[in-house]
Order: sequence, then structure tokens, then C-alpha cells
Amino acid sequence: MKLRVLGAYGGEGLGQRSAAFLLNDHTLLDGGTVSGALSVPEQLDIEHALVSHCHLDHVAGLGFLTETLACCGSERPVTIASLEPVVDAMKSAVFNNVLWPDFSTIPPAAPVVRYRTLTEEVEQRLGDLWVTPIAVSHTVPTAGFIVHDGDVGFVYSGDTGPTDTLWKAARGVKGLRAVIIECAFPNRLRTLADIAKHMTPELILRELDKLPPDVPVLIYHVKPQFFEETAAELHRIAGHRVSLLEQDKTYIF
Ligand SMILES: [Zn+2]
Ligand SMILES: [Zn+2]
Repeated sequence: MKLRVLGAYGGEGLGQRSAAFLLNDHTLLDGGTVSGALSVPEQLDIEHALVSHCHLDHVAGLGFLTETLACCGSERPVTIASLEPVVDAMKSAVFNNVLWPDFSTIPPAAPVVRYRTLTEEVEQRLGDLWVTPIAVSHTVPTAGFIVHDGDVGFVYSGDTGPTDTLWKAARGVKGLRAVIIECAFPNRLRTLADIAKHMTPELILRELDKLPPDVPVLIYHVKPQFFEETAAELHRIAGHRVSLLEQDKTYIF
């Protein structure tokens, strides 16, 4: 399985893009940044967008992607997929004709957005992949995902504070190659992390005991404003098992 990091951060900074990953060229995993990291032909190849939750740093790029699809002769829509409350939020809070046009009706002859509600804690087909959405602990309804291609898979936390169900499910995954976990703030902002339901390096250290052993842990979603400080703390916590996901790198699992 191919995972290309379009954006590795929990916000925008100079050269730092919001969370988005492209799986096997056709499926987005979150869409904080899309058009800022992909050519138009690459955008037209996207068929599915798996969305963890509706916060801007995970969906802003979907707005500009849909504009590309509507303007540049896309032959097929992008299907936005997630748990029901997340899909509902995408309709009511994002593509609502206020924040952005409702591209599920544009262009009228062949709208470029479709929605698909996924069943919680059930493995289901999405394009050439299998996905299992699992609710995690954030300030709005949010899904983590187990993504599998039949041979190998990885776990993606979405935005979450400490959680359990996702890690329990991860322990049963065959061919697990990586656990991708968010970390937003440095340790000194623990109070803010608790309120906003995000991780700090110290919290991740505690989560490690719940994870399947010996699987590499890749960190994304550090807030650009605190990158140096948070990255230094992450480097200290857990030796070789934990590393930062690199933006613009393609990982082959
Ligand atoms: Zn986020
Ligand atoms: Zn969030």
C-alpha cells in the first residue's frame, strides 16, 4: 500500500500543510490540503475522501478539490465517506451554500460530490481498500480508521485524546505496518490539549502501552506554532519506535 503525505501538520505554517494523505493515488485520508500538494491531473484521479472529522485542518482542501473537479472536466465525483455524524457535519457545516457551495448539486448534470455513511466498527470496502471506522475522543464526532489492502494495513487515529477502542481493534489487525497517531501540543500545554482533546508527547508515551507491540508509530498533526518544541519532546520519549511522519514523503507499507 502506498501512502503519500500531502500535509503532515495540524494547521498551516510556512511550507507546512494541514493533514492529508493520498492512498494508492485514488483515496484521500483527510483533506486538510489537496490542491496545494497535487497537480490537477492527480486531483482528477481522486475517487474517495475518507474524512476523520469536519475541522478545517482536515477538510479545507476538499473545498478546493471540489472546485477543481467541477471546473476541470472530472469524469467522476469524489465520494466523501465517514461515520454518520461526520458526513452530516460535512453537509451542514462545510458544503452548505454558506461556507462553500453545495457541490453535491454542482454541476447539475453531474455533481462532483457524493456522500457515503460508513458503519462503525465494521470493515467495509472503499475503492481498492478495506476500512474500519472507529469513534475516537475529540471535541466533535471523529473517526479513527483501520485501513487494509488485504495483505497489510495501518491504523490512523484522526484527532483524539487518550482513547481505547481503536487500540483494542488495532491489536487484532493482521499485517499491521504502522500506527499513525496525532500529536498537537508540547507537554507544557497539557491543559489546552485536555480541553481540545488532543495528544502531547507525554500522553502518547502512555498510549504506547495500549498499542500492538513492535509496530512503528508515526506522528502527524503537530501544530506548526509549536513544532520545534514538540518534535524535540517526541524525539526524547520512545527511542526508535516513534518518529515524525515526513510531509511530501511516500511510504510503502
Ligand atoms: Zn486537526
Ligand atoms: Zn480536530
